[in-house]
Amino acid sequence: MIGCSCPVCTSDDIKNKRRRCSLYVVADGHHLIIDTPPDFRDQVLTFGVERVDAVFLTHPHADHIYGFDDIRRFSSLQKSHIPVYGSPRTVKQMRKKFDYVDRTSYGFNSVPRVQFRDQREPVKVGYNLITPLPVSHGQDIIYGFLIESEEKRLAYIPDCNAIPDETAELLHNLDAMILDGLRPKPHPTHFTIDECAEQLKKIGAKQSFITHITHNSEHHELQQRLGTAVTVPWDGLLVEL
Ligand SMILES: [Zn+2]
Ligand SMILES: [Zn+2]
Ligand SMILES: [Zn+2]
Repeated sequence: MIGCSCPVCTSDDIKNKRRRCSLYVVADGHHLIIDTPPDFRDQVLTFGVERVDAVFLTHPHADHIYGFDDIRRFSSLQKSHIPVYGSPRTVKQMRKKFDYVDRTSYGFNSVPRVQFRDQREPVKVGYNLITPLPVSHGQDIIYGFLIESEEKRLAYIPDCNAIPDETAELLHNLDAMILDGLRPKPHPTHFTIDECAEQLKKIGAKQSFITHITHNSEHHELQQRLGTAVTVPWDGLLVEL
C-alpha cells in the first residue's frame, strides 16, 4: 500500500510484496494471460513470460487493465495480432481507454496489435476451452474464467462478492480454484477471507487458492489461519496441475 508503514508493507519477506492480480496459464502449448494489471510489464519481466496467444479480461477496473499497452511487445515479437476476449462491456471500455490500439498510421510495433472480441460463450484456444463465469462484483456482473484443457479444469475468479447459481453449477471437478478473498473486514464488492474460505470449501476443488489479498493480511499468519485446505499464493507462484 502506497504510503503505509504497517508490518506487512515493511516486511522483508517477498511473500508480503504483492503486485496486482493476474494469471498466466500454459496449457497444451498455448499461453494465456488473464488480466493485464498496471504492473503487468514488471510481472512479465520478473517471471519470464515469453509468449501470449490470447488475453482474457475479467473486467475493466484500473487494477486489472492498465498494463495492457505492454501487450504490444508480444504482438511485435510474434508478428501477429493477439485476440483479446472480454464481456461486451469490458471490450467497449477497452476500446475507449485504449483508443490508439490498432491505429493504422503507426508502425506495426508501436501499438498493441490485438483483435478485441465480445465473449458471451466458451471459446477455444488450441485444445483449451475458456468459458466466461459471470459473477457479482458489487453492482456489476463481471467475468471469471473456467479454463479446461483436455485433462484439467481450472477456475479463476479474482473479483467477486457473490456467485450466481448458473456459475456455481460450472464449478465442479476442478483441479484448481482461485477465488477473491480481499481482507478480514466486509467490503461491498469483494468476498472477505472467511466468505472466500467458505465458498472454496463448497466448491471443493482439488487445490484451492485465495487471491486479491490486501496488506491487512501477513502471508504466514493468513496461511496458518486457513490451514491446509487453502493455499495463500504469492507473486510468481508456479502451480503444475
Ligand atoms: Zn500496509
Ligand atoms: Zn474490480
Ligand atoms: Zn480487482
